[in-house]
Amino acid sequence: MSNVISKDVSCPKCNHKSGAHLYISINATNDPQFREDLLSGGLLKFQCPSCGYEAQYMYPLLYNDMKRRFMVYLIPQIDRFQLEDRSLEDDYRNLKGIKKRITPDFNSMKEKIFIFESGLDDMAVELTKYAISEMVAKKQNLGRVSEGYLTMYSRETNTIGFTYFIGENNEPFVQSARLEIYRKSMKIVNAICSNDKKLSGFIKIDREWAENTLFRYKRVKNEA
Ligand SMILES: [Zn+2]
Repeated sequence: MSNVISKDVSCPKCNHKSGAHLYISINATNDPQFREDLLSGGLLKFQCPSCGYEAQYMYPLLYNDMKRRFMVYLIPQIDRFQLEDRSLEDDYRNLKGIKKRITPDFNSMKEKIFIFESGLDDMAVELTKYAISEMVAKKQNLGRVSEGYLTMYSRETNTIGFTYFIGENNEPFVQSARLEIYRKSMKIVNAICSNDKKLSGFIKIDREWAENTLFRYKRVKNEA
């Protein structure tokens, strides 16, 4: 079941107080409409009834897709790799073997939902995104391209595509590649990430994780 709470919120611009419905958990299987509203951005949109000021709500939000067996927990700015939530684990005790992820912001949450709904492995996607970001950085003569999201995936055309935000102005830059690079990443995941897959609780699979994993992979390869 989805969970909504009512709360008084005050407008950051004019201080006007108004009542709001905050969705603290979303069950995508039973309430597909909430999934739509979340992905379109409407669910987390704040609009002041007095002055019209608009902003995005930032609070912990749990997304649960029982059918595809994954959960994404948005916890604004969380910087931990792993989160064990005893009461949550108890609530969902009978759901073994579901993928659980934490994300620090809304865009990463949306990306995780897209990845899992596409039937992809998010660890392999992160490694792929990292590899392609290095290519983009080189091509664009940039030291580093660190922010990017999976925005396209097609088995029919054998392509995977990411939108990166590059340069001083964070301009969107789309780069696609053939699926071979994803398959290669999948091999790395199968070779050295079995422990990560076994971790309990919610884990953060992001760029930092990809960097660490590739570092580990190179070390293992050099030792072999
Ligand atoms: Zn206002």
